[in-house]
Amino acid sequence: MSTTVPLTLAGSLPATQRRTAPVDKHEADKLAKRLRHQVGRAIADFGMIEDGDKVMACLSGGKDSYAMLDVLLQLQKKAPVSFSLTAVNLDQKQPDFPEQVLPDYLRSIGVDFHIIEQDTYSVVSRVIPEGKTMCSLCSRLRRGALYSYAEQHGYTKIALGHHRDDMVNTFFLNLFFHAKLSGMPPKLLSDDGKHVVIRPLAYVRESDIEAYADARQFPIIPCNLCGSQENLQRKQVKRMLEQWEQESPGRVETMARALGDIRPSQLADPKLFDFLALGKHGGATLPDTHAWLSGGETPRGHD
Ligand code: SF4
Repeated sequence: MSTTVPLTLAGSLPATQRRTAPVDKHEADKLAKRLRHQVGRAIADFGMIEDGDKVMACLSGGKDSYAMLDVLLQLQKKAPVSFSLTAVNLDQKQPDFPEQVLPDYLRSIGVDFHIIEQDTYSVVSRVIPEGKTMCSLCSRLRRGALYSYAEQHGYTKIALGHHRDDMVNTFFLNLFFHAKLSGMPPKLLSDDGKHVVIRPLAYVRESDIEAYADARQFPIIPCNLCGSQENLQRKQVKRMLEQWEQESPGRVETMARALGDIRPSQLADPKLFDFLALGKHGGATLPDTHAWLSGGETPRGHD
């Protein structure tokens, strides 16, 4: 029979930063094992980490990045390759940001870490009109600061805490609002070609991360201290997915699996699949749109 015990973090956090969620130990162990398994599988499937990598784990103070760092640290001990791991946080100088929480936590678990201090908050609040959401510019500036740090210090991989639900969410955002079939890949080369970004939580459900964060009692720092609201479209998609999941449990997982099983010949992008060559006989050049619209003139040399 399983027992119910409050799990505590290794090391000592001030009592005010701990939450006291009682967790079923058996369930917590199963959950931890599932997360290790899913993260290990994502790392292997996408070749996220190789021997000698210098991994910079971006830590925001939210549940996702805490979970990512925690699982990576566990996997690092038994990994088939040797890699270094440094936790990096950007202190953006938001009002009321509790700047000691992360350093205290990171010291308590004995991980190598660095806090970058850069007042992006002032920039964002100066540029964005009052009442408008600041998150998009804030995230862009954060990304810029973290990427520059990674470049200056020779990190070969930048690990971010996005999870399976973020990936499905982004896919629908792009589909509904940007007319694009694209999402948030588990591994990507940054636009300037300088950084390889990895998302080790690509297979992990958000609800599992929530439960894990409770079990491990991470000292969560809310991202809305600055008072900005999440982008409305993102909220809308999130609500829609939650509703779908409630009506048909498992639907988000099905959609997440679909992101890894794409059939270009069943879509409609001639850049991905050569529809022109399909079923074509003979070597003649096919008439283009202009020829079709201008009254069916036969291209020269093919009559
Ligand atoms: S809530 Fe505030 S700190 Fe968080 S991303 Fe948005 S603007 Fe930045």
